[in-house]
Amino acid sequence: MRPEPFFSGPGIDRADQSRVDPLRLAELTGAGARQLIWRDGLPAVGTDGRLEWQAASATDLFLGIQDGQPRFSATEQPHANARAAFDTIGSLAENEAPLFAAALSLAWWHSRHLFCANCGASTEIERGGWSRRCPECSAQHFPRVDPVVIMLAEHEGRLLLGRQPQYPSGRYSALAGFLEPGESIEAAVARELHEEAGIKVADVIYVASQPWPFPSSLMIGCHARALGDELTIDRTELDDARWFTREEIAAALKGDPDAAFQPPPRFAIARTLLEHWLAA
Ligand SMILES: [Zn+2]
Repeated sequence: MRPEPFFSGPGIDRADQSRVDPLRLAELTGAGARQLIWRDGLPAVGTDGRLEWQAASATDLFLGIQDGQPRFSATEQPHANARAAFDTIGSLAENEAPLFAAALSLAWWHSRHLFCANCGASTEIERGGWSRRCPECSAQHFPRVDPVVIMLAEHEGRLLLGRQPQYPSGRYSALAGFLEPGESIEAAVARELHEEAGIKVADVIYVASQPWPFPSSLMIGCHARALGDELTIDRTELDDARWFTREEIAAALKGDPDAAFQPPPRFAIARTLLEHWLAA
């Protein structure tokens, strides 16, 4: 079965046919419309893990329909430090996470795309916030999604995990990197593993994906077969990288205090990939 990482899943009915219909959008802003509450630069999460809402007054961004109610957000300036969001995400209910991710990524995009990338003029919101148009050159700009490959390389029953310098003490996780223009997912996985760990791989397969709203990544989770286990670690990217046995990974995910490493948090797709691999 394909695993469903945090932030994935169906989320809200985005009702995209209503975005292109200004009359319909105006109707939706009427009675019953709800507006997302923001707190400290993030969508607010209540003690029950659900997103918080109020009667709609600012309706720049149309998020969709949930529980029969139109859902909107004002244009907000998200918190600049993604790590500050992790406490909030930690308390977020899983079925609310896709909408949290959509609202946060959309807000990021608007806050950084006020001007036309083609001619530099100020742009205007259209389609309920799902595009911006330049009144000078008519260019239409859409919210961006930046693909990132994140992968487990396996060699004779062991997995390669690495440490980035900013990780908490003891944490190891899957290696990752942005796709480059003109590159397939498979080629990006092979390139990143070679650049960061010096290994060659084959048989790259896709496992699962995850929206990652800091600000707008799509994490593409993969598995690859390493052709050898000798590592040449790129110390500008990683503090360390090591091979871990199935037993070491199982102990880490169980929260064993004597585990060889600290696993990634539950909302990271790296964690999902490890759980999926262990269960296979
Ligand atoms: Zn323009």
